[in-house]
Amino acid sequence: MYADILLRNGAFPTVPGADALAIRCGAIQAVGSSPELKHLIGPHTRVLDLGGKAVLPGFIDAHTHFVRVGLERTFYVDLSGATSLDEALERLRRAARERGGGWVVARGWDESRWPEGRALERRDLDRAVPRQPCCAVRVDGHIVACNTLALARCPQPDGDLVDRDLGHLREEAAWGLLDTVLPDRTALVEAIAAASRYAASLGITAAAEMSGKPEYLRAYLHALEEGVLKTRVFLYIPAELVGEAERLGLRRGFGGGLLRIVGVKAFADGSIGAHTAALSAPYRDRDTTGTLLLRAEELARMWRSASHAELQLAVHAIGDWAIGEVLRAARLAGISRYDRHRIEHLELPSEGHLREMAELGLIASMQPNFVVNWSGPGKLYQERLGPERDARIGPHALVLRHGIPLAFGSDGMPPGPLYGLPGAVSPPHDAQRIPLEEALKAYTSGAAYALFAEGELGELSPGKRADLVVLSADPREGNLGDIRVEMTLLDGEVIFQR
Ligand SMILES: [Zn+2]
Repeated sequence: MYADILLRNGAFPTVPGADALAIRCGAIQAVGSSPELKHLIGPHTRVLDLGGKAVLPGFIDAHTHFVRVGLERTFYVDLSGATSLDEALERLRRAARERGGGWVVARGWDESRWPEGRALERRDLDRAVPRQPCCAVRVDGHIVACNTLALARCPQPDGDLVDRDLGHLREEAAWGLLDTVLPDRTALVEAIAAASRYAASLGITAAAEMSGKPEYLRAYLHALEEGVLKTRVFLYIPAELVGEAERLGLRRGFGGGLLRIVGVKAFADGSIGAHTAALSAPYRDRDTTGTLLLRAEELARMWRSASHAELQLAVHAIGDWAIGEVLRAARLAGISRYDRHRIEHLELPSEGHLREMAELGLIASMQPNFVVNWSGPGKLYQERLGPERDARIGPHALVLRHGIPLAFGSDGMPPGPLYGLPGAVSPPHDAQRIPLEEALKAYTSGAAYALFAEGELGELSPGKRADLVVLSADPREGNLGDIRVEMTLLDGEVIFQR
């Protein structure tokens, strides 16, 4: 059987001795040396000479918010590149003028990068957008700053989660408000199409959508029908819906090649940036230990229902207090290692926690881009936690040493494995540093394992889907910062070309 496409004269960092790869019917037909694969070239085979460029399995983002990434490009005002608080306000002012009424929703502000060094507050937003409701989500998604008009839509009383004076909503209060300003279905489908194009340009061929709420699922199905979804999306539904899923008989694996349900997402705590990650000792810069969102007993109940519905549970746990509580819940629920449950972020585990994770067969779903963004001298984590705890954040090396399966994702902050890789291969602290080949595995085969997709994805071997990324240079040789994505293929179809 002749190949449909033959890539040759490439570098294959994950396949020793190979320089060519053949694709047939959307799957990898063979990988080997150019002479070995020559007989697969037929009259209709498209032969691509890669001129030494590197081929890797398509990247898999094991934890992201795909719709949100799209909305950031189509609907939300993007504050992620704002270099000062003043610039962020100017962007909001401009958006309010252009939209001429209605909500102004923004995302991505990060005060740790601003010379003013403080968060957006109600009075700032009132000044910039006085006549329309306006809210702006912090980069980590755990604080929403609101102007007075937006704040009026929040029904919750003042307390831990609502500070009307500053105009800050946290966690459930924040998510509640954002749900009321969700765009319509057309806008959601547009966002999915935009996210998919963007993912392809970053070499991403599969992504785990951690906010698989019903409105999003419906929009995904429309995007699929319209043919604008060109990324494999693995959905995690909100924990509240586990009962409904079970009644419908929806188990892990429901769906198809481009869209499928895998599991359930739950939150044990918040984030370090928002002082809501639950810690065993107080923050350095505020007298609090954060917010535990779920007690072990409650989480154990959720875990039993998820296991019963044959859904994988992915629990967000960042601080050491939250991680300990999740492990206690896992023991209470008597989880099975074959269900491959996951801990999301896992930023501050102790050695004891990691030992326990290994015993329980839990997967570590981590984001090296957080290390790039916020760890090291003078950065946010040191400010929040002090240097000692900063050095223990994101311990990828210890995770591997304990034999815990490791999957990398981005949480969309920002997406892109080439952005995140330095946080694992050249990070500020030893416990974070792992070899390049391990980091690449975490973005490919490790992520595939976390999604129960290792039989189809994550490796360049015959029979696997032809999801590939071609990089401008071999990451083992070139400077990571100079490497670009040249081409991305999904099922053997070119979905991005520079
Ligand atoms: Zn997330």
